[in-house]
Amino acid sequence: MAFELPSLPYAQDALAPHISAETLDFHHGKHHNTYIVNLNNLLGDAAGSSDADLEKVIMDSAGDASKAGVFNNAAQIWNHTFYWNCMKPNGGGKPTGDLAAKIDAAFGSYDKFKEEFKNACVTQFGSGWGWLVVENGALKITKTPNADTPMAHGQTALLTCDVWEHAYYIDFRNRRPDYVETFLNHLVNWDFVAKNLADAG
Ligand code: MN
Repeated sequence: MAFELPSLPYAQDALAPHISAETLDFHHGKHHNTYIVNLNNLLGDAAGSSDADLEKVIMDSAGDASKAGVFNNAAQIWNHTFYWNCMKPNGGGKPTGDLAAKIDAAFGSYDKFKEEFKNACVTQFGSGWGWLVVENGALKITKTPNADTPMAHGQTALLTCDVWEHAYYIDFRNRRPDYVETFLNHLVNWDFVAKNLADAG
């Protein structure tokens, strides 16, 4: 089986009015799908082998300039599937429980976390991603350019915001800060983030 486009974890119009069905139609149906078509083409017969594991493809190509095309498309597939799961209808606001305590401990308060996460997303020059990750047991906010992804840096991703223009231009035009603010206030699926934290041990 070659790699396939995973379904969105909600209906295409479920995030409206914050992120429109039109954005998800293009972002999931066109952009995410193109990375899958590209990766299957690049891998050829290997995409159909029983050990075609996406994380393995990412790690085997990370840092190897001769495999940049494979890395970029594989990492973008992983990043997008992760990003869809980082959102839900009626999400956002403050997390609770152990996750909230760890965010307070790492950043001082939820408001400080929010400021730092938003700053990372807004200051990523050009295309890329803002992240909350775990590295050596500590929560950190990072940003990556283009397709780059935390697992290639020994980090475990907890939360991401896609800051490529295709993620927000239909709904927010050039206003990336408003998109990130909306993402944090109305869309973050904190249950998914908490599960990622628990899985990270
Ligand atoms: Mn994207």
